[in-house]
Formats: sequence, C-alpha cells, structure tokens
Amino acid sequence: MAKIGFVGLGNMGLPMAQNLIKAGHQVEGLDVFAASVEKLKSAGGAAAANAKAMASHSDAIVTMLPSGKEVREIYLGANGIVENARAGTLLIDSSTIDVDTARSVAKAAEAKNLMMVDAPVSGGVGGAQGATLTFMVGGPDAAFAKAKPFLEAMGKTIVHAGGAGNGQAAKICNNMILGVSMIAVSEAFVLAEKLGLDAQKLFDISSKSSGQCWSMTTYCPVPGPVPASPANRDYQAGFTAAMMLKDLKLAQEAARSASAHTPLGAQAGTIYQHFVESGEQGRDFSGIIRFLRAGKS
Ligand code: NAD
Repeated sequence: MAKIGFVGLGNMGLPMAQNLIKAGHQVEGLDVFAASVEKLKSAGGAAAANAKAMASHSDAIVTMLPSGKEVREIYLGANGIVENARAGTLLIDSSTIDVDTARSVAKAAEAKNLMMVDAPVSGGVGGAQGATLTFMVGGPDAAFAKAKPFLEAMGKTIVHAGGAGNGQAAKICNNMILGVSMIAVSEAFVLAEKLGLDAQKLFDISSKSSGQCWSMTTYCPVPGPVPASPANRDYQAGFTAAMMLKDLKLAQEAARSASAHTPLGAQAGTIYQHFVESGEQGRDFSGIIRFLRAGKS
C-alpha cells in the first residue's frame, strides 16, 4: 500500500483516484473544486491541505489536469510538487498536455532526483471508471517500472513509448488520426446520403473493407449500425468536440515545433474550431457529421 497524492479530481481524475483506493492505496486528493474532494472522501480518500503538504509526505503523486498551464503551476510553481517532494518520489502526469511542457517538467523533476513519467490516457470516462484505460507512457525505464503497478490499478493497457514526453507524443499522434478519420468517415456517410446509398449498407461494406477504422466500427457517427455510439443519443459526449479541438491544436503545436508537415491534421483542427465556435463545444466530437451535412464547415 502506498500513500498517493492525486491532483485534479474531475471527470477522469475522480474515478481514477477511486480505483487506486480500491487497489488498497491511501489516497489524498486536491482540487480547486471542493465538491470533488468531498466525493473522494466519501469513497474512502482524504483531503490534502495543499500541494506542498501533499508533496512532502506522498510516495507517489498523480495529476489529471486540464492543460499544460495547470501542470506547470502545480509542479513548478512556488510551493509546488517538484520543490517539496522527497527524493525518489514517483510523479505521474496523466493530463493531455503539450510535449514541450511535459519534457520541461520532467527535466526539473529529474534535477531534484524525482522519478517522473508522462502517462496520458485513452479510453474516456468509461475507461476511467472501469479501470480499462490505455496509458501511453514516456520516461526513463526505472520510473516506468515503478509507475506500472499504479497504472495497472487504473488501466488495462500500459505501453512504454520511450523517454520523457513520448507518452504525450503518442497521445496527440493518435488523436490526430482520430480527428481526421472521424471527419473522413462522416464525409463518406454524408456523400452516401446524397447518392442514395443507405447508411447501414455503407457500414456493412466499409466496416469489412479498406475504409474500416475505429471511427467507423466502434464510434460510428450515424445512428443505427453501432448501438453504443453517441450518434444514438443525440451525440451526447463521450469525448467532447472541445477536447478534440484541444488535442488537434496540441498536434499542430508539436508539428510546428518539430517542422512536420501535417496538412490534414491542420484542416481537421480548422473544421473542429468552426464546430466549437458554433456552440457545439460540449457535443460529442462525432457530432461533426451534422455540421458537415449542413455544409457549415
Ligand atoms: P475536468 O475538467 O473534468 O477535470 C479537471 C479537474 O482539475 C477539475 O476538477 C478542476 O477543478 C481541477 N483543477 C484545475 N486546475 C487545478 C489546480 N490548479 N489544482 C487542482 N485542481 C485543479 O477534465 P477531465 O475530463 O477529467 O480531463 C482531465 C485531463 O484528461 C485533460 O488533460 C484531458 O484532455 C484528458 N483526457 C480526458 C478524457 C475525457 O474523455 N474526459 C479522455 C482522455 C484524456
């Protein structure tokens, strides 16, 4: 049993922290939103006084925060984690953030003899609740080995993607594929409608042909063929359009910084930007099909 500090008890963080408690760990939570800390307490956790106190007595700290800005603040700020954690403390950042921030926080942590991994996730709120998340992990071998048992309490597939920042690199590359493929699949269904081809027929053919992909077979953007997909519940998220836009922007930032040419990723970002600006930020990202159908992109 370890003493774990958990920062960011939102949609993802709270169920992840609850799974660490179920695995027998002692979990202390921190969130700017007091009601979330109360929920952790009712699940058997405790409230941390602040980041400094948490850092000074935790064996491991997990963070699940909205963006690189909050991650920088909580790790590198005055009274932050890096300054106050004991040497050897394990730090796991599971937030989806930019590669440069992930690498600079990891460097500062290493300079203080802390063991850090970036470990963003795929699998959404359902995966967080069911402890079936996929973790994409960046960091030194020793830190990965130390983090693995904790990640296994919150997820099912744990992949070591390389050195610091490579977990974030894997996450944004994966989600750039997802954003582009969801638009491609949606465009195909819209075209099929115009051509008088039944959506179920296109699904039956493409799901077994070269157009097959996750956006088609697991998260199909038209109602009917895949009963569990958000299309069957008015595109209730799921994974919101705002989050898809965030990840596509991170991918473009990384592409610029690494001089990679990603024209479809850039175009997907523009289309999701317009979708979000039309007031659909909270809609599931597969709802992009309605936007494309209406010719608004
Ligand atoms: P969320 O907004 O529900 O949770 C973030 C939590 O962090 C909130 O409770 C907020 O109050 C807290 N917080 C913000 N600043 C803080 C600070 N300075 N100190 C302490 N707490 C602070 O977001 P989420 O959906 O849980 O997502 C968290 C991360 O996981 C994001 O980086 C997101 O991109 C990533 N992610 C989300 C999903 C998903 O489906 N929701 C899937 C994969 C990855």
